[in-house]
Amino acid sequence: MQPNVNLENVEALGAEEVLSVVLSAGPGPRACVTCSFQAEDMIVLRMLKARLPEIPVLFLDTGYHFAETYQYRDRMTKEWALNLTNVLPKNTVKQQESLLGILHRTDPTQCCQLRKVEPLMEALGHFELWFTGLRREQSPTRRNLKKVEQHRLPGGKTLLKVSPLADWTWAQVWEYTGANSLSYLPQYDEGYASIGCQPCTAIPEDPSNPRSGRWNGKKLECGIHTFSERAE
Ligand code: SF4
Repeated sequence: MQPNVNLENVEALGAEEVLSVVLSAGPGPRACVTCSFQAEDMIVLRMLKARLPEIPVLFLDTGYHFAETYQYRDRMTKEWALNLTNVLPKNTVKQQESLLGILHRTDPTQCCQLRKVEPLMEALGHFELWFTGLRREQSPTRRNLKKVEQHRLPGGKTLLKVSPLADWTWAQVWEYTGANSLSYLPQYDEGYASIGCQPCTAIPEDPSNPRSGRWNGKKLECGIHTFSERAE
């Protein structure tokens, strides 16, 4: 059962307060957090772990991540004793490439659909509360993100999507990371600003749009934050 949260009132609250309000509003809804191990996700994860040490952490394991991302995932999973689920597509990379070719070159939308959107849709069906590290500043496509939104999955189920860092700036992310001595993905030190699958991630040419380095600038979203419909 979903918690009963006044969606308008939470907009003015800070990240920790948003979590407190959402988590105290309902009778123990099943909660999860999606995590690509980027800096924002580690902040949300740290805040959540203090309240829900066993929260399921969903990592979309496309098989195309940087080796450094897998190494960091494994290290943080051990150090933070994460309850990690690697959400897997139906086919391995090898199987998909032999069946359909190198989709991230020919049809990245289909590749993201098969390796991210469909596995996540299925995984989210088990939860009522979905925490994310999304921020409005990350991309023009996220400008209207609210801290707490009702989302309807394609199957009809509605869940509460909570993005406590929605109004954080890039500077705030790094202030928090430094102040709390959080480790971070090594690719940031090379100039990457938004880190996903290796073939679809580059150092952004437009510093004002950190996700412009994704998919060679051809698209800004993989679909995991657009497949569900906001239920007003
Ligand atoms: S980000 Fe690229 S490699 Fe990853 S699932 Fe999407 S198209 Fe495929």
